[in-house]
Amino acid sequence: MTHGKGKNKAKSQYRPAPRPEAAHEMVQDEGKGKGKATDKMVCYEIKIFGLDEPVIKYDTVPAALCVPQPPLLAKNKFVDSLIRKYSNEVVTSLSLPCWNCTARATGLAHAPKPFLQLSNPKVVDLAFPVCAPGGNCAGGARVVMAGGLGMLGPEILDTLELV
Ligand SMILES: [Zn+2]
Repeated sequence: MTHGKGKNKAKSQYRPAPRPEAAHEMVQDEGKGKGKATDKMVCYEIKIFGLDEPVIKYDTVPAALCVPQPPLLAKNKFVDSLIRKYSNEVVTSLSLPCWNCTARATGLAHAPKPFLQLSNPKVVDLAFPVCAPGGNCAGGARVVMAGGLGMLGPEILDTLELV
């Protein structure tokens, strides 16, 4: 018995020494999805037709996109994923009427414009609640948005999207 005990004890003393610093770094990197060195905070401001106050969401944006000339495809992909992430949540939580008829909105027609190069990056999104995608109300939203978007700049017309 004594013999066995001594053997176990000896074995436990021969564990390889851990490298505390390396382990610590890894935990910090993987622990939180937010706060990575390559991400910046982005303010996503949704100006919804018919609402006085914009809906504000905070998310993260890759720092590589926060430059005056970011890769266009990556930028559009990011903006697209951002509006898709929150669109449904916003529509269901606010239970909005369609901008054009009396039906309840089931989606938003979005016209997002990113300002990612700012020191506090933001995405401004003009959104119209619409009852059904592809219907008259969605089509009408596009026309109205296209006509009234001078304040946000002409390039927003390229990003009109229904989610
Ligand atoms: Zn409608």
